[in-house]
Amino acid sequence: MDLGIQGRTAAVAAASRGLGFATAQALAREGVRVAICSRDPGAIEAAAARIGDGAVGIACDVSAPEGAKSFVEQAHAALGALDILVTNCGGPPPGAAGNADPKTLGAAIQANLLSMIAMIHAALPEMRERGWGRLLAITSQTAREPMPFMVHSNTARAGLTAFLKTLSREVAADGVTVNSILPGGHDTERVRELGGPAIDSLVTRSPVGRLGDAEEFGHVAAFLCSRWTANLTGTTLTVDGGSSQGLF
Ligand code: NAD
Repeated sequence: MDLGIQGRTAAVAAASRGLGFATAQALAREGVRVAICSRDPGAIEAAAARIGDGAVGIACDVSAPEGAKSFVEQAHAALGALDILVTNCGGPPPGAAGNADPKTLGAAIQANLLSMIAMIHAALPEMRERGWGRLLAITSQTAREPMPFMVHSNTARAGLTAFLKTLSREVAADGVTVNSILPGGHDTERVRELGGPAIDSLVTRSPVGRLGDAEEFGHVAAFLCSRWTANLTGTTLTVDGGSSQGLF
């Protein structure tokens, strides 16, 4: 299937590896010129080289709004325009709700909510003016089903999902779609670093019986940024091997 986005441009945040990288790579395979970021200059240069096709690597920390805005501005400067923005950041640490440390909670809200909003605010005006845009947030299945001991992720992602839904209705008539993609357990470096017991529990939760594959995830994300999703906005798509148990 031709996604109809050849020649478009995209900024994909937090993408030297894992789900961000796979999304950027899938977009590049569709003929999209991509700019990606991570904090480590060497790692992001290497990732851009692996993608090829003129991919641009930008060293930038998106865990606070100033850095997040700066990434979008640098991506715009490098590519000349931005048709697609995929927001992403490293995930927050686990933790319980009852004794949540306000500092840790605040950092998660900065990184996984306010910085994502800052990226969107930086990219949105021009998309609206040009009458075409795709905003996609990589969040987590915890946005749909809050997980025990994951209060930082649960809280920040729920806030972001509410923001995206509100925004989607404001900008729909301008040709800009606003959606999120909610990964369940995927085989990325981050998950491998968590180790055996964490992986076993993710696999057990999944009716598919395995971790998700990042490359598969990237292609689903790319589809949500495609020409064919012009009438698909304000929605959340869970990619979790069927592990969420709710009807929607
Ligand atoms: P990962 O650790 O494999 O990759 C994260 C990428 O983000 C890396 O390229 C890293 O360099 C970059 N990054 C991290 N912090 C950054 C920062 N402050 N500024 C710039 N770049 C930064 O992680 P992943 O598994 O691909 O996860 C991506 C997102 O999806 C995370 O928010 C994670 O919580 C969420 N998620 C992942 C899974 C999973 O199973 N992989 C499940 C649910 C949610």
